[in-house]
Amino acid sequence: MGRIDLTGAGSPEALVRRILQAEPNLTVPVPIQELCASLGIVGIEDLDTDAFEGGLVTDAQRSEGIILARRGGGPRRRFTIAHELGHFLMAHHVPDRPDRFLCTSSDLLRVKAKEGDGRQRREVEANRFAALMLMPPHRLREAMAGFRKADLQHVLGLARDFGVGKETAARAYVQHHPERIAIVVTGNGRVQRCYRSLSFPAIICAVGSPVPARSLHHGDSHRPNVASAIAACGPDLWIDVSRDLRAPALFEQVYRQQNGFAMILLRLDPVPEESAEERRLDEGWRHRFHSGRR
Ligand SMILES: [Zn+2]
Repeated sequence: MGRIDLTGAGSPEALVRRILQAEPNLTVPVPIQELCASLGIVGIEDLDTDAFEGGLVTDAQRSEGIILARRGGGPRRRFTIAHELGHFLMAHHVPDRPDRFLCTSSDLLRVKAKEGDGRQRREVEANRFAALMLMPPHRLREAMAGFRKADLQHVLGLARDFGVGKETAARAYVQHHPERIAIVVTGNGRVQRCYRSLSFPAIICAVGSPVPARSLHHGDSHRPNVASAIAACGPDLWIDVSRDLRAPALFEQVYRQQNGFAMILLRLDPVPEESAEERRLDEGWRHRFHSGRR
């Protein structure tokens, strides 16, 4: 197979679209190393340092590239390789050093960039590319078609099937699931990151703060590596309800690993039925008004 022509595709989304057009039968888990080979990467080598998670050796013309990735951790290494492939394919990405990109583990987790910070923006773009490439949107939609009520079991299944880390799967799940949900990632009992669907309000627990004492997270009935049952919790545990006329029902589900990593799924009930009713009434009014003028 020749090198796929990606001329003109500058954004992560456009690049992934073009790659998927050229490779319509891409299997899941996406064979990321083969894909690299068909896109101009001539080698993938181990990176022997704790300071960086991944790297890319290339030139300004991107005639070819060598990806460096830390050994071990299947899904983690796959994500690193996909991230570095993203740097390679985005011609506007300029490395800190003339001939190579070097990326830390926090670069590989970055989802937001500070205004005006070009380096952070490039890392965010490479992460978007990696997530889309490893979880191609059409495949993700197929996989999620049967997921009605949000459940961390689904996230674990996606991570396994797509060969990605649990956090990568969680982020994609929250973006594609139709319900109002959020997934809080914690380490040793402290909030580390939170991924929310567009309609889920901001959580009130700052990064680094302890998981609220009344959270299901602290229950002692959790079996490691098994998602808990889903249970109602006080909505004020996680979100600001003081300005709401009626507190929404909030549900929690917890998945804990022995190494201190945990995910907490938060699900809010759908918007109350009367607003849908109001919308129907409103449409009725407009319809009558319209007919009346004829
Ligand atoms: Zn990077």
